[in-house]
Amino acid sequence: MAGRAPFLPDKIFRYIVEHVVREAPVLAELRQATRKVRHSGMQIGADQGNLMALLVKLMRAKRCLEIGTYTGYSALAVALALPEDGSVVCCDISEEFTSVGKPFWKKAGVEKKIDLRIGPALRTLDEMLAKDKGRFDFAFIDADKPSYWSYYERCLELLRPGGLIAVDNVLWSGEVADPKANDQQTIALRVFNERVNKDERVDTAMLTIGDGVTLALKR
Ligand code: SAH
Ligand code: CA
Repeated sequence: MAGRAPFLPDKIFRYIVEHVVREAPVLAELRQATRKVRHSGMQIGADQGNLMALLVKLMRAKRCLEIGTYTGYSALAVALALPEDGSVVCCDISEEFTSVGKPFWKKAGVEKKIDLRIGPALRTLDEMLAKDKGRFDFAFIDADKPSYWSYYERCLELLRPGGLIAVDNVLWSGEVADPKANDQQTIALRVFNERVNKDERVDTAMLTIGDGVTLALKR
């Protein structure tokens, strides 16, 4: 099941998404449409979509940033939570994946809030740094794991003080805690977690929702 927390028994996750979490019909439709797409397991769960929408509302965020959009579920969850004049800049390298989401963004009436930038996210972020430093309220990092630290550094610069970064997959199905797991992605996430933990520029909390989400609040 897409977005299933690897640490939660399937029965409990099913109960949560069926009875506890509110998923707007258009988000449910996008989830359904994504089932046919390659790598549909990368999509965040409905519970995490709820959390991100709540954070955006709680912060009264207007300017959001997303690194790793896939078929656009997290972008849609965020866009639906934003006020009319809010926006989310979405970075992804794949036309194939992001084009799945576009009709649903339109159907939800939020396509004007979503500014999709196709290309390597590092390049897009570096372009943004020239004029958008300190202008963002919220960022979601969910693209290629070896680049996480580079994304994090750039997001910190793009955020205002009091802005929040949410980082996905920080537990990597528990591999980060397995000393025998030493592939490139696991190592990158382990190093990332260590660095964030020592980073005095932020206050942090880590949630065991989904595949582990770290929240870092810029001081
Ligand atoms: N947040 C999405 C899931 C993202 S999956 C959701 O809620 O459904 C990770 C995405 O990162 C993929 O779509 C992939 O194309 C993208 N990606 C991988 N490497 C990238 C890079 N260097 N720059 C931008 N996007 C990248
Ligand atoms: Ca993810």
